[in-house]
Amino acid sequence: QSEKMRKPEWLKIKKGEMRDIREVERMLAANQLHTVCREANCPNRMECYGNKTATFLIMGPNCTRGCRFCNVTKEAPLCLDPEEPAHVAKAVVELGLKHAVVTSVTRDDLEDGGAAHFVAVIRAIREASPGTSVEVLIPDLRGNWAALEVIMNERPDILNHNVETIERLYPEIRPEAEYSRSLELLQRAKAMQPDILTKSGLMLGLGETEEEVLKLLKDLRAHEVDLVTIGQYLPPSAAHYQVKEYVHPEVFEALAEKGMAMGFQDVSSGPLVRSSYNAGKVYDQIQAQ
Ligand code: SF4
Ligand code: SF4
Repeated sequence: QSEKMRKPEWLKIKKGEMRDIREVERMLAANQLHTVCREANCPNRMECYGNKTATFLIMGPNCTRGCRFCNVTKEAPLCLDPEEPAHVAKAVVELGLKHAVVTSVTRDDLEDGGAAHFVAVIRAIREASPGTSVEVLIPDLRGNWAALEVIMNERPDILNHNVETIERLYPEIRPEAEYSRSLELLQRAKAMQPDILTKSGLMLGLGETEEEVLKLLKDLRAHEVDLVTIGQYLPPSAAHYQVKEYVHPEVFEALAEKGMAMGFQDVSSGPLVRSSYNAGKVYDQIQAQ
């Protein structure tokens, strides 16, 4: 690796209390649950579990798409587990989560993209733990807006859908997705339930220019997105899309400022920020405003 591509100091992870992390993850495994936290070996686990936030990966673990930055396996998807909503709800209670993020692989094989399953999970969590806010991080549903409406009618506390990267890189990095379709999804979600917060996120270090990132932020705002997350791309393995740059923390800070000036309610921007990082805290702050 060249000097330039060696991992800089700011990306090195503090040694947290692995024992606490393992305890939480043992419980999740006992409930046959997948979390993005564990699957992605997320560097923020200590902090998020401590803040009573976790991200459940439902309908997984196999995806019908194959984005080049993603660690999820592209294989034939599994049948939906009708017990999954109850398992997620039980884990939310056992972990005492204040904020649950529910996401899924993309299920292009399902007519509704998994919308009904999302709804079942939201319901089960609310029934078991009425005080827990629920954020859904959904796939693009192949533009099935009736399926989106099914999810929005359940009124999740936050509707999240990541654009992941700038428009120019879509064909190369996420050939099965469409930038404009993702923007349309966010705008339609807002139109369906105007008082529900919408959120999106992107990664830096994939070869985008600053100008392109600012254009993306403007596009998100023009589609009435309320919250944004910006983090550093870290390739899951050498076989994945190569990181092009480790972006300096100051650049992340400057983007947060520029984003706030565009009118977002929150822009979480930093090398270790992930789509669900601090999600509960941000939600609480906005509710308190
Ligand atoms: Fe889990 Fe998201 Fe926190 Fe990572 S940032 S530990 S994926 S909730
Ligand atoms: Fe990963 Fe989502 Fe792409 Fe599937 S659609 S490969 S889960 S980023």
